[in-house]
Amino acid sequence: MQRPLKSCKHLVSLCEFEKQEKVMRVQQDDGKGGRQLVGRKVKFGPKVAPKSSPLFQLCRIYEAVNNIRLTRPDGSPRDITLEERAKIVAHLQSSASLSFAALKKLLKEKALIADQLTSKSGLKGNSTRVALAAALQTYSQYHHLLDMELETRMMTVQLTDEETGEVTVREVAVVTDSYVHQPLYRLWHILYSIEERDAMRRALITQLGMKEEDLDGGLLDQLYRLDFVKPGYGNKSAKFICKLLPQLQQGLGYSEACTAVGYRHSNSPTSEEITERILLEKIPLLQRNELRQPLVEKILNQMINLVNALKAEYGVDEVRVELARELKMSREERERMARNNKDREERNKEVAAKIRECGLYPTKSRIRKYMLWEEAGRQCLYCGRSIEEEQCLNGDDMEVEHIIPKSVLYDDSYGNKTCACHECNQTKGNRTALEYIRAEGREAEYMKRINDLLKEKKISYSKHQRLRWLKEDIPSDFLERQLRLTQYISRQAMAILQQGIRRVSASEGGVTARLRSLWGYGKILHTLNLDRYDSMGETERVSREGEATEELHITNWSKRMDHRHHAIDALVVACTRQSYIQRLNRLSSEFGRGNKKMEDLEAQEQQAKETGRFSNLERWLTQRPHFSVRTVSDKVAEILISYRPGKRVVTRGRNIYRKKTADGREVTCVQRGVLVPRGELMEASLYGKILSQGRERIVKRYPLHDLKGEVVDPRLRELIAEYNQEITSKVKAKGAPLYLDAAEKQEVRSVRCYVTQPSVAKAIPIRFDERGRAITFVKSGNNHHLALYRTPQGKLEESIVTFWDAVDRARYGIPLVITHPREVMEQVLQRGDIPESVLRLLPPSDWVFVDSLQPDEMVIIGLSDEELQQALEVQGYRKLSEHLYRVQKVSSRDYWFRYHLETSVADDKNTSGRIPKFHRVRSLSDYEKRNIRKVRVDLLGRISLL
Ligand SMILES: [Zn+2]
Repeated sequence: MQRPLKSCKHLVSLCEFEKQEKVMRVQQDDGKGGRQLVGRKVKFGPKVAPKSSPLFQLCRIYEAVNNIRLTRPDGSPRDITLEERAKIVAHLQSSASLSFAALKKLLKEKALIADQLTSKSGLKGNSTRVALAAALQTYSQYHHLLDMELETRMMTVQLTDEETGEVTVREVAVVTDSYVHQPLYRLWHILYSIEERDAMRRALITQLGMKEEDLDGGLLDQLYRLDFVKPGYGNKSAKFICKLLPQLQQGLGYSEACTAVGYRHSNSPTSEEITERILLEKIPLLQRNELRQPLVEKILNQMINLVNALKAEYGVDEVRVELARELKMSREERERMARNNKDREERNKEVAAKIRECGLYPTKSRIRKYMLWEEAGRQCLYCGRSIEEEQCLNGDDMEVEHIIPKSVLYDDSYGNKTCACHECNQTKGNRTALEYIRAEGREAEYMKRINDLLKEKKISYSKHQRLRWLKEDIPSDFLERQLRLTQYISRQAMAILQQGIRRVSASEGGVTARLRSLWGYGKILHTLNLDRYDSMGETERVSREGEATEELHITNWSKRMDHRHHAIDALVVACTRQSYIQRLNRLSSEFGRGNKKMEDLEAQEQQAKETGRFSNLERWLTQRPHFSVRTVSDKVAEILISYRPGKRVVTRGRNIYRKKTADGREVTCVQRGVLVPRGELMEASLYGKILSQGRERIVKRYPLHDLKGEVVDPRLRELIAEYNQEITSKVKAKGAPLYLDAAEKQEVRSVRCYVTQPSVAKAIPIRFDERGRAITFVKSGNNHHLALYRTPQGKLEESIVTFWDAVDRARYGIPLVITHPREVMEQVLQRGDIPESVLRLLPPSDWVFVDSLQPDEMVIIGLSDEELQQALEVQGYRKLSEHLYRVQKVSSRDYWFRYHLETSVADDKNTSGRIPKFHRVRSLSDYEKRNIRKVRVDLLGRISLL
């Protein structure tokens, strides 16, 4: 059965107070193809308790009550006795809140002054118990379920005297674990932990003895409606609350209570600790696989490099990390997801049965293929040709198709796949679905087809949307954006930064957006870009409703079109103080609470009051110190975006393999100094090369049921022939597992076959045997760089070096970019071990090197040498920014340069305007005319000539 889905419980953090750290030895990839043992800090301990837990609620109430500070009009303190304290707590246990007026009444005092928070908002009650009491109101037989009595026992704690360092031992009372058997806790726990209605009903009957007729008569509905997961999690574990509660009950304040049980009172270190903490000069980069998430590691390492550079240059005392808001799904959302999972599992079973009926074994990929085929209406989604069940299952003429090609967006999820015939799949190539359909001129029938499928609810809305995407519609930072939005990554970032930065604090995305607009930064980028887009013909005149004047607007503008929107947000975050965040958050949560019922006049008044408070707060926030719009605009106009060019072609690594010795033992051999190509080796399929009957042949591993080419192993070849015969003669079901041994222990899943496809010729070796011969390959067709030379006749010539050629050069110790053709040629000819294939690609020795271009290198286009020199001298960044381009791609006589502020490469048409989105250079004379000059923009955005 599908486990009921719980919102994001796996993301729940450890209790700050009870968590422990231990260094464990773990095996890790050493980045060179081997394994190594490394020490890794592992944190463990109890997780924080849900905010809705009755234990948490009680603790929170005591904290708040102990925190009340009251003064009489004459300025003398009005202490609250233990007895009064108990009364207040009892009141809060059974009502949603206690207003300041009610508090004064309860204390029998008319003229009291309290802190702002207490006097304005009052105190919040036990919302869990109150909600349950409301549900059980008419069922007096269940009122005992609202009871919770806590037992205590004595525990010894070690206390360290902060001044003397002396350790003393003390006995304190702590709540025993028996609270989990208390009726209120059990009731809450059932509602909190069980997602499914029927399971919840069963638990209420069997565990709490509720009557079926009561539940079915409406009580279950009421209980089920309570969502105890949504409020999220507190900052401490139940274990810690058990220690804290008895101290709070004695009237100790929060920090005294923490100290009493041997903890420091707050997560935030004391100011002394902050100033005395020893900081690392340089924050170390994350090791490969340290977080087990390569993309997250990559993003965080970019951050570490940047912060280290900033630190070295300017010194950095404080870093603020913008936190994503916590993901809180409502019960409805969680249920929908659980339902979908369950539906999917059931669908899987159904489809598996159908496939079995056809005499085939239902592998995972076959099931998926079948579902895509059914979903697409048993036809090729692109040309509409119908596909038979048999064709689908045999894999002869139906292929699983990526709607957005892998080369554009690596998304291997079900949502990005559909069913297509072999021909369409082949011709579509690296285009999105709609691009292909448009080129084929089949848009009308295609649109009808996918619209029908959507109407019949066969395909999802999001898939339908993808099917209508052109390349430019794809969000350019799709994956990265999703990752950035998780709290996980911001928490990691904070922990990493703390190693080298004195103060690391958090800010919040929602607050940034609010302040950005309040401070008037929202329009800066549009204003900076307006003239540029206007010159490209991408503006329109729009008039606001009821206004006669028209305004010039960039068509389809979004701040995400300009990389610098991150810089503006960073400036907002830098000016944000913790107190703004607190005030905004507090008002928002109060606002949300009172906003529910609008029918009565009182509520309307209340809302008007709150709206008023909002505008007061906004006025206050607008007056907080921040940079003027002019300052921000000027600084932003000087920003140069830096890219990271020059991925290394190869690194030295190790290769580990098993070998049989002469006496038949198997030994592990380690081969050092192996060249491992780096770069875009995304192609997953690995090829190998073996020597067969005196000639080298390329082999590849295929799944058993999708073999292509001759099987390499003769014994297996025989076995498979036999197996296939049994299938044809119906002795065996198609797709039945094949075993190597009679005991049926070793299943054959994939088989190595000889490959005949010519595309393999383009494969790049990534593993070499002990004699340095390549044994494993991957495919890659990318160009590594372009080099330009001048012939003795003064003519410009290009030399395109593919990734494959670059690896070859690295192997023979030849420089990848040849800047001195004569020297290289002389050395190479002396050696005599360089194969013809490498020699052939070297530039003639009488050529003179002019320049080289590699993707992501930066160039200045369209400035004369003097203009460029002058701009660099006076640090004219605004001017330089208008001419700065990035090498996007190079192939023979076709060089693309993309404007450095562009976040998208989708537009490959519009090169007009004062500052075009991109330059495309298609001849060497054009290249010379534009005076393209290579520059370097470092991590901090400083530019220099290369
Ligand atoms: Zn087709």
